[in-house]
Amino acid sequence: MSRKKLIAANWKMNLTLEQAAEWLAEVEENLLEHHADVVLFPSFIYITDLMDLYQGEQILFGAQNCSHLETGALTGEVSAMQLGSAGVDYVIVGHSERRIHFGETNEAIKQKLKMALKHELFPVFCCGEPLDVRNAGKQEEYVSRQLTESLFALSADEIADVTIAYEPVWAIGTGVNATPEQAQEMHAFIRQQVAKKYSGKIAGEIRILYGGSCKPDNAKPLFACPDVDGGLIGGASLNAEDFLSIVMAAK
Ligand code: PEP
Repeated sequence: MSRKKLIAANWKMNLTLEQAAEWLAEVEENLLEHHADVVLFPSFIYITDLMDLYQGEQILFGAQNCSHLETGALTGEVSAMQLGSAGVDYVIVGHSERRIHFGETNEAIKQKLKMALKHELFPVFCCGEPLDVRNAGKQEEYVSRQLTESLFALSADEIADVTIAYEPVWAIGTGVNATPEQAQEMHAFIRQQVAKKYSGKIAGEIRILYGGSCKPDNAKPLFACPDVDGGLIGGASLNAEDFLSIVMAAK
């Protein structure tokens, strides 16, 4: 089963509009290879500006979050319906920073997944264990629960539009990445869970990205793992040159 690699840039709460536009111009000029899909996740306020500026076809655009509700009195929130109406393609759901700093539960993340799909966004569903769980050797149990309580509420048709990102919390923004062996082991486990719940066909088609201190110098061996289908890149995506070399590492 050959799956096209996907490399995503999660800018989090970084870059001004001017810096973002410069990044986009540099990446547009140098992104000449089409071996991977590329998705950019800027702050909400820049998404449509950047979509308007971009002349190419390879980069798709996404939001870093969406509300679990359709519409209403939720000051500061952005709904999946609003993202869809603005022409946004993707949305990250369940990032560990949202879980940790904004108290997002598996139940809320399930609702966000449903909202995203209802409004024709492709969700990137994040899962991954904290350090104490990994040290206790309970990472599979932990991730399995995240899958069961959120992602596996989707139907077989719905899950076909989802990308999974395995992002061990201990590797995010720490400079310590999972080894290719650790990443492969967990990706294979996640794929196996998807096969058990849905089918071997769906499991063979779904993309599972690795995220957590992925950089130009460690991307290649991670992307070479049979069950790693690309990366969700945080810190190293802020620099256009570094991001381009990570895209090249997926070749
Ligand atoms: C992320 O937060 O999605 C991420 C992978 O961050 P970093 O690459 O900075 O570890």
